[in-house]
Order: sequence, then structure tokens, then C-alpha cells
Amino acid sequence: MALGAGIRDDFPLLSHTVGGKPLVYLDSAATSQKPRQVLEALSEHYRCCNANVHRGIYWLAEEATARYEEARANLASFFGAARSEEIVFTRGTTEALNLVAATWGRAHLGPGDEILLTEMEHHSNIVPWQMLAAERGAILKYVPVTGEGRLDLDAFDRLLAGRTKLVGLVHQSNVLGTINPVREIADRAHEAGALVVVDAAQSAPHQSVDVAALGADFLAFSGHKMLGPMGIGGLWARYALLDAMPPYHGGGEMITSVGLDRSTYKDPPHKFEAGTPNVADAIALGVAVDYMRQVGLEAISEHVHDLTAYALLRLKEVPGLVIYGPQTATDRGGAVSFTLDCVHPHDIAQVLDGEGIAVRAGHHCAEPLHRRFGIPASARASFHLYNTRAEVDALVEGLLKVRRLFARSSSAAKEDAHGAG
Ligand code: PLP
Repeated sequence: MALGAGIRDDFPLLSHTVGGKPLVYLDSAATSQKPRQVLEALSEHYRCCNANVHRGIYWLAEEATARYEEARANLASFFGAARSEEIVFTRGTTEALNLVAATWGRAHLGPGDEILLTEMEHHSNIVPWQMLAAERGAILKYVPVTGEGRLDLDAFDRLLAGRTKLVGLVHQSNVLGTINPVREIADRAHEAGALVVVDAAQSAPHQSVDVAALGADFLAFSGHKMLGPMGIGGLWARYALLDAMPPYHGGGEMITSVGLDRSTYKDPPHKFEAGTPNVADAIALGVAVDYMRQVGLEAISEHVHDLTAYALLRLKEVPGLVIYGPQTATDRGGAVSFTLDCVHPHDIAQVLDGEGIAVRAGHHCAEPLHRRFGIPASARASFHLYNTRAEVDALVEGLLKVRRLFARSSSAAKEDAHGAG
């Protein structure tokens, strides 16, 4: 199937115009657009199959339960899980990482134990560990990022110690685009006796992510970045780990029996899914995964790689533009963050918005990483299977316009200052 222009008809939102200009959506790292098939699955669920799951003994409830559990099985096979019970549905990556910190973390970490993260983590793979470390007296350490935007693996080896109980890292950086060598890192972490939690929020949307091949112990993902709805995602973990972990939230559906003083819990994954789950969104995420498979994960990867390589090349034509992260598209994903001379990234995004181009500006929930590069913020263009080279061209034209506008206003300011003097 031809990606880019050839697939855009599947994504109704992409035909919108902004101020009379075609929408150029370059913010898929924040959230992806949704194909018709996913939108239809959502509406079909509420029109045809809506009932609460796991509790009804009537046809509709059984149908809803079967579809919800089919979605789980689908996600399990998508991530190469050994069994479908290894997928716990959560609201997304953030909740999945909090779940690991609050359950496995509380049970296994004590004073002086070390958690080794990296400087390129999203806040969702930092803050839950900070909260846990403060509660348990554990110590947080960070693998530094090189000037090129890669993990310093020599420093990783030095930081990995007998007290390291957990290594947490992002598979693909949402700022630098860097794809980290998870397998190599996991092997070294396991040798040192640590478990490995992988944030796959940015990799799962564009490439095949196989938990066994990665050597992960825990892996978190967000459905809304994978062409699925918001509010659904999950945690994969080896069944034995899940089985040994205490529950997360307490309430209905996660128990086998409740007494006034104590309760007993179901087996995974239900032990971790208290209350009414997000059934429709889970089913629609299963449809999103089917869609990605039908298009072909390799084709998606290649398309995003092509756009990234093209963007890296063309952005060099914009004077004063600095790209953060690897400068070539090899082992790099489709998020390209940059700054432009003295123009604030918010101004860049605002001018581009006037051209119908949607990019993200700010610290992208990665403040420590921006601090590492000595910048408060950056602008970020990110690509998915529906983007085209023509949209990259539009971005470059837009950025040249930003430069012209700001060069004019800064020379006008200089003239004013000169005149005033
Ligand atoms: N990790 C990375 C690398 C991300 O890019 C994001 C979202 O931007 C998250 C975690 C958090 O995902 P969510 O907000 O879907 O929980």
C-alpha cells in the first residue's frame, strides 16, 4: 500500500483546512491521527455491543467481554508476548510506568537501592521513580546523553552497580528521535541483576516492537500514538513478574473475594484492572493494530525513515537552524526537534500555524534533556505514515518565512534603538 498521499483518505481529519490552508499535521509524536476503521470501531461498539464486561451473564455482556479480551490477545501478539494475560490495559504509558513503580517498585526497592534512568527520559519515566525513591529511600541515577544525542554506554557501565535494581529507558526519544540499543542495555542490566523497564510510547507506533527480542521485563505503550484512541494503552510484563506483584488500584473486578478486613485478588491481568475498564477504546486499539499490520510495520518504518532523512536534509537549508539528536536518519525515529537563531520555539509554532502547519513547541515533557542541551525549549516536527515529502517542503518554506519575519523585526528593533540613541 502506498503510504503518505496514498493513505490520507483513511484519515478524515487530514482533509481539514486551517485559515483556508490545508492542514499539515506534523505532531504525531504528541498524538497520531486516527483512521476511519478506528473511528468506526468506536461508534460500532457503542451502537452494537455496549455492556459492562466480565460481569454480565447475558449475550451482550459476553459479546463485549469477548471483544475486549480479543483486543488484549491482539496487543499481546503485536508485542510478541508469550500469553495474552501479560497485557494489562492502562490509560497509556504514564499510567503503565506508575503501575510498575507503585507495585513492583514498592515491593522490591528499599533504602540505598538504585534506579538507573537516562537523561533523555520523558517526565513519565522520571517522576514516578522520583516519588518512589522519596518514599523508599532509593537513589536515582541518570545515564548521560552525548552531544550527538545518544546514550553514553561507557557511563552506563560505570553507573550500573550491584545496588542497581532497575534500569528504565526510552526505546525512542520523543525529542531527539534516537533509537536506543535496548537489547544491549538489557543484557548488561540483567548481568548486573537489574530488571529493565522500557518506554515504547514513541517506538511502538512506527516499528515492530518485540518484547522478547528487546529483552525487556516491563514495556509501556500508548494507544493514541499508535493510531488508536486516547485513554487506552498498556503495560506488558512477563507473567511471573505480574503474578508476584501486588495489585495497583483496589476496587471491583480485581478481586476474587472481599471480606470486611481483607480481600483476595484475581490473577493477572485482572488483578491490575480495577473498576470498569475502557472497553470501547481497547477494542478500537485492537483495530488500530490490525490496521498497522495490514499496512505493514516495515512499510510504516521505511516511510517514516524516508521522511526523516528528507527532513534532516532539507532543514539544513534554513540558516540558523540547529537540529538536536543524531544528524542522519540511521537508527533514528521520526521526531525532529530544532531551534532557530533567537526565535522562541513558541513564535516558530505560531507563525507555522498561520501557514496551517502544526508542530509542537516547548520542552516536550523532557525538561532535563533540554537542560542538558542548554535550551529551555525546542520546536518539534514529527511524522507518521500519512505524512508526505510535500509537507516537509511546506515546513521548510514556513521556517524560511519565520526567519524573514524575525530578521525584519530584529533589524527594525535595531534601527529603532539606533534612532532613539
Ligand atoms: N514517553 C514518551 C517517550 C512519550 O513521548 C510520551 C508522550 O508524549 C509518554 C511517555 C507519555 O505518554 P502518555 O501521555 O500517552 O501517557
